[in-house]
Amino acid sequence: MSESAKPRTGSCQCGAVQVQIQGTPLEMHLCHCSTCQKVSGSVFAALVTLKEEQLTITVKPGLDAESTLKVYKGAPGDNSGSVSERTFCSTCGSQILLRNNYMPGISMVPLGILEPYPLSEDGSAGIEGREGGDGEGWAMKPMIEYWCVRKRQWVGETGAELVFKTGPETVEDLAELKKIFGLA
Ligand SMILES: [Zn+2]
Ligand SMILES: [Zn+2]
Repeated sequence: MSESAKPRTGSCQCGAVQVQIQGTPLEMHLCHCSTCQKVSGSVFAALVTLKEEQLTITVKPGLDAESTLKVYKGAPGDNSGSVSERTFCSTCGSQILLRNNYMPGISMVPLGILEPYPLSEDGSAGIEGREGGDGEGWAMKPMIEYWCVRKRQWVGETGAELVFKTGPETVEDLAELKKIFGLA
């Protein structure tokens, strides 16, 4: 775990919003719930989990943060009882941030808005980044999968260590997650 590693960066599609992540993310997970399907427009969301303080969100100079970042609250969707708060770029619609009320202090960022892997000096492919499989590099693999009852069959096995049929349902589930997130 090298905390000294260069911060990971990302942005929305139009570039109005930038994110910076310090240190190593807690985990990356896939969620197949209908809310994540609607929000992403895809059949699952890939989200990187962070402690709130690891994440910095900024808007392009000259833009107003309040009007650039729109927050959509509620829409518990499948996960009855939980309230989520999703932050979007108001210009291009990219999702920037997700928070759930049952995990205070935790922020989730879509994997797809992060730079996929470091480019090499000459700006070419950056093969090393893609092949480094230490879990700390850009080759991050999903540790958890949620809502597998809604998983498309053809998605197949992802190698996630923790697989939930729905969201975390029991007190034990939540305790296990909090342990992973270092919130115990
Ligand atoms: Zn944007
Ligand atoms: Zn979801």
